[in-house]
Amino acid sequence: MTREAIQLEMNFDGTEENRFKQRFDLGEFQLIAELPVPSADTPLADAVRRASDFEYLVHSQEHPKASIAFISEAPSGYALDMVQFATELCKYSRDRHILYLHGRDHTVKDILESVRHAHSEGFKNFCAVTGAAHDGEDEAEIRKHVFLESVNMLGAIRDAGLPSVSVGATVNPYQYTPESAYAQSFKMFRKLANGADYLVAQYGWDMMKLQELIWNLFRREINIPTVARLMFLTPDNAELLCSGMFRGVHISPDFEKLLKNERDHSFAQFESAQLRRIQIHAAGARLLGFSAVQIAGVTNVSLLETIFQKVREAFQEFRTFEDWRAAYREYYDRLDMAPYPNEFYLFGNLLESDLPADQLSLAAGIRPLTRSERFRRNLAGALFANAGNLPAQERRLTKKLLVSCRGCDLCRLPMTDYVCPETCPKGLANGSCGCNKADGGCELMNAECVFAKRLRIADSRIDYSSLEEGAVPPVESRP
Ligand code: SF4
Ligand code: SF4
Repeated sequence: MTREAIQLEMNFDGTEENRFKQRFDLGEFQLIAELPVPSADTPLADAVRRASDFEYLVHSQEHPKASIAFISEAPSGYALDMVQFATELCKYSRDRHILYLHGRDHTVKDILESVRHAHSEGFKNFCAVTGAAHDGEDEAEIRKHVFLESVNMLGAIRDAGLPSVSVGATVNPYQYTPESAYAQSFKMFRKLANGADYLVAQYGWDMMKLQELIWNLFRREINIPTVARLMFLTPDNAELLCSGMFRGVHISPDFEKLLKNERDHSFAQFESAQLRRIQIHAAGARLLGFSAVQIAGVTNVSLLETIFQKVREAFQEFRTFEDWRAAYREYYDRLDMAPYPNEFYLFGNLLESDLPADQLSLAAGIRPLTRSERFRRNLAGALFANAGNLPAQERRLTKKLLVSCRGCDLCRLPMTDYVCPETCPKGLANGSCGCNKADGGCELMNAECVFAKRLRIADSRIDYSSLEEGAVPPVESRP
């Protein structure tokens, strides 16, 4: 598309328009390119000038059309204001793009202020993310921060009633234990129940997990746009990935070995291998039923242009699921993509067909509660059934002994299956952060993820409603 054509399109911007959403509604496949918001010490004009070719390239894409996902993962205050940067960069068609909202160190009020500001500038699409620990932070540091959960953000934005707004939610399907896979799945359904209009899957390389996500939605008869996030690997990112530095991203020993081999080759050979990889994964995502792919890890404009072109070629090359599957299997030479020994999948026959199975894996292998866990849970249930209606300090010593109460201002025990949300280092009450280790353990403490335990409690009662229905309200400070 020429700059003149773009200028012409700008005249048709309407207040009710949301082209990003409309493309989903029309079943048009989309490309999304991630653009990190520059650091706070970059003069805004310089940041905009540097990103202008990126924006132009994205805007000029046709068949499929493309959008920018503005992402800021830096700690609060370390990056430019996202709305200001996006507004200065995108002079028109702002309804094509997505702004990622992070809940770390934010309150509902802050988030709604940002959303209203962005909306007044013409941005209509958001994606709610709870936020993560930053490099080098340990459990003690994380406990100093409040994490506004994406579930609460979704509900607040939905209730704000801004016209033509579409809000997405993230999900990490790359979970390889029964407890972590089901915990993530229930959180996804909770996000949908709280107003998520589309889903963005965390990046990973195991296509069986992407199909598992699609089948899991199908099983519930949920027809919602889904975006597959794909990371383009540079040699540096491949090294970080192999060292386990990407939180919640788990790769198999086989895949790690393959990446290490690729890194031993020349830069050109390495890049060529990654371009082929992104072709296979993007084409696969499309054939598995995803509505868009979101490319992470590329800010170089000419490389992004090559990727767009390669992805387009792959869509031509792979017309059927069977063709694509044969190429995927040949490319990976039947490598095991699960992080052994953790290799749980929700369905038993993934990649055997493009038609969804409606049966979950039988004998999922969820670890039962121990007798002591069952006793403590039942006792907590009996003692604290009204804790939400009483002053939080009531029976604090008993709570401390039984559920490791840390002494917050709003007791949420009856809403969290009597597992104290403050035992999670991020204080999450609505579902797992998705950054857990491959074995389901917490990323920050040497213990089981709190939501794996909640899943086991729900499983023991054969009642999973507390994991997926409603929303536990947020708190504004941590004990
Ligand atoms: S939610 Fe947890 S920390 Fe807060 S009062 Fe209840 S038991 Fe204590
Ligand atoms: S307990 Fe679970 S949800 Fe909480 S920080 Fe650890 S891995 Fe994340």
